[in-house]
Amino acid sequence: HAKSLGGNRFQPFEPSFQEKIQLRMTIERHLRKAVEREGFSLHYQPQIDTLEGRIVGFECLIRWNNPELGRVSPATFIPIAEETGLIYGIGEWALREGCRQNKKWQDEDLIRVPVAVNLSPSQFYDQKLKERIESVLAETGLDAQYLVLEITEGMTMHVQGAIAALKDLKALGVSIAIDDFGIGYSALSYLKEFPIDKLKIDQSFVRGMKDHPINASIIHSIQSMASCLGLEVITEGVETEEQVSMLGELGCRMMQGYLFGYPIEAAQVPGLARNYGRT
Ligand code: C2E
Ligand code: MG
Ligand code: MG
Ligand code: MG
Repeated sequence: HAKSLGGNRFQPFEPSFQEKIQLRMTIERHLRKAVEREGFSLHYQPQIDTLEGRIVGFECLIRWNNPELGRVSPATFIPIAEETGLIYGIGEWALREGCRQNKKWQDEDLIRVPVAVNLSPSQFYDQKLKERIESVLAETGLDAQYLVLEITEGMTMHVQGAIAALKDLKALGVSIAIDDFGIGYSALSYLKEFPIDKLKIDQSFVRGMKDHPINASIIHSIQSMASCLGLEVITEGVETEEQVSMLGELGCRMMQGYLFGYPIEAAQVPGLARNYGRT
């Protein structure tokens, strides 16, 4: 890499095709080892009811700190895990860890709210997913009502298949949230057919709200449609007080974002929970 960086200084560094392939293979090799050793951790980001100033849930976000590669973002390694089939092991680990941790918080009387775990497409369409979740819940002792599964709009493209898979999961008593909502090609007409519980409005709408009013209109439309369908809405990526008040005017109540809390280690959650408890 040093060689390519030292070339023409006016050209932005763009890794060659070969370098990208190399990096991918390196990540895959390390990822395989990390799966065997359970070399991942989960961070937890609070979801806030802004009217009551209470934590209403946590999203589990996976973290991978590799001794050689350093911290690798899930945005980089999850797609590789997905393509190599490593996602099954990683996904099941994340599911079990999130459930185990949440049950522990409940047993300690610290906080009793749902945790949300992200699912990738192959996990969602895995015939064994229902069984896997069922046994994770049994093993950890977490009540199904305290588990939310996050899927993205893209995973619901095969409408009939998605409805069947969702019904199967819902029968367990878990909740379903559609993540990054609004940026995919959701067949809005089908949304009412989906047995889902929450929509998470994609952060791009919040970010663009100030400069482009259309984003506020979109948020407002999603919010009113969701209300009609009896779905809860969480707005993602909330970073400023100004956004909170704009979103409040648009009818949004549940929010998640750096303003309320970064994704944190489990050990930091008691402090955060106590902070919110005092307000
Ligand atoms: P996501 O599920 O949409 O998660 C939200 C992402 O936005 C997280 O990035 C979070 O750290 C970030 N975020 C939260 N609040 C803010 C904010 O106020 N501003 C900004 N700019 N960003 C914010 P992260 O942790 O890097 O995760 C990226 C994506 O990786 C996730 O997007 C999710 O699609 C995927 N992912 C993470 N953990 C898992 C997992 O355990 N399993 C699977 N399948 N995917 C995961
Ligand atoms: Mg998510
Ligand atoms: Mg999201
Ligand atoms: Mg995302």
